[in-house]
Amino acid sequence: MGDHDTPMICRFQDGDRQCIQRAIVHYEYCIRHILLDETAPYKRCQGITKSNSDEDTSVRCTNPIHINRPENLCSTHLILLGRRTRRN
Ligand SMILES: [Zn+2]
Ligand SMILES: [Zn+2]
Repeated sequence: MGDHDTPMICRFQDGDRQCIQRAIVHYEYCIRHILLDETAPYKRCQGITKSNSDEDTSVRCTNPIHINRPENLCSTHLILLGRRTRRN
């Protein structure tokens, strides 16, 4: 009873740490880790995230984007770059 609505938990593990995010429906990873599944219809954001440390290092954004989207930037980067367009 009720098996169908048991939430799937992301299977990502980093050492002892298990991700506790809910997995995307039909996949084994959550939205943060979905890029680990090569069969999932997501691509990686091409944006750069500045790290908060003193070192001048830039880190590639790891946000996933659904492949149906024409942009190669996540919504955060689209807003940052002022390229977000509304279609409603
Ligand atoms: Zn996860
Ligand atoms: Zn991004």
